[in-house]
Formats: sequence, structure tokens, C-alpha cells
Amino acid sequence: MFRDLSGTMSDPFLLRSVATHIALAFEGKFSAVLAVDARGFILGTMVSQISSCRLVLARKLGKLPGAVHRATYEFEYGATALEVQRDALSAEQSVLVVDDVLATGGTLAAAGALVSRAGAKLSGFATALELTELGGRRTLAPYPVFSLLTT
Ligand code: 5GP
Repeated sequence: MFRDLSGTMSDPFLLRSVATHIALAFEGKFSAVLAVDARGFILGTMVSQISSCRLVLARKLGKLPGAVHRATYEFEYGATALEVQRDALSAEQSVLVVDDVLATGGTLAAAGALVSRAGAKLSGFATALELTELGGRRTLAPYPVFSLLTT
């Protein structure tokens, strides 16, 4: 079953509230947000605005210009990849990865691998919703995972 978060994303008060909870959960522990393509861009942008920290985009394969770090992962019926521009993250940064939903954890694990490849510190993972029956949290250990809602 696909959980549709469009209503939360389109309501300015709800979106800000979700982003504020995430920002507070990791307060003082990150200096950049890595927002995951595509719905993670919406929530990640709001988290970066609330916490006045840098926003970096993890995009799907082939969308970014210039040199990139790439991490492949299994998704639905095959392998795909996330990419980040090589000069977008630096070793001094502590990075919070933000997406809308944690399901199997493959997408967030790939985004986390991008942070490691860039030599930056991985502060943790945050989502609006976690589908706990899929066990995605286990694939993200030992990093902190915060999901505002679980089902
Ligand atoms: P995972 O890699 O954890 O299996 O899947 C997470 C990714 O797939 C996220 O980027 C998320 O946007 C998308 N996704 C998976 N299942 C759902 C769902 O039920 N609802 C929404 N909104 N997105 C989902």
C-alpha cells in the first residue's frame, strides 16, 4: 500500500511542524541537510530553512551536472542510483539525510553512502513516516533514525 503524504506536504502548517520536529530532534548535530529526490526535497528544504543550514540534493541517476559521487541500490524491480555533486559536501560537514518515507531503507542507505563517500560525517536519518513492518531502520544502523510517524 502506498502511503500518500501529499496532504501533509501541501499544508504549510503541517509541513513546517514536521520539519520543526526533525530539526529539534537533531538540534546542534548537523550543519547540512542532504535531501533525497524527490519528495525529500520538500521536507529537506524546510528542515534546512528552519535550522539555517546548508541544503544539498541527492538526485536520481543522471540528473546532476559535473563530477558526482554515486551509490546504487535496489528499488522495486531493479537497481537504481542516487548521486550528489562532488563539491557539494565537504569533510567538515555533519549531514542529516531527509526523505519523506522510510520503507525498506534502501534509499536512505544509499543517501548515507553518498555522505560517507564525500568524507563528511553522517549525523543520522529523518523522515516524516516510517513503515516499521519493512524493517528499514535495521539497514541504517548504527546511525540515529528519527521518524515523526510510524505505521
Ligand atoms: P525504501 O528505499 O526505504 O524502500 O523506499 C523509500 C523511498 O520510496 C522514499 O524515497 C519514498 O519517497 C518512497 N516510498 C516508498 N514507499 C512509499 C510510500 O508508501 N509512500 C510514499 N509517499 N513514498 C514511498
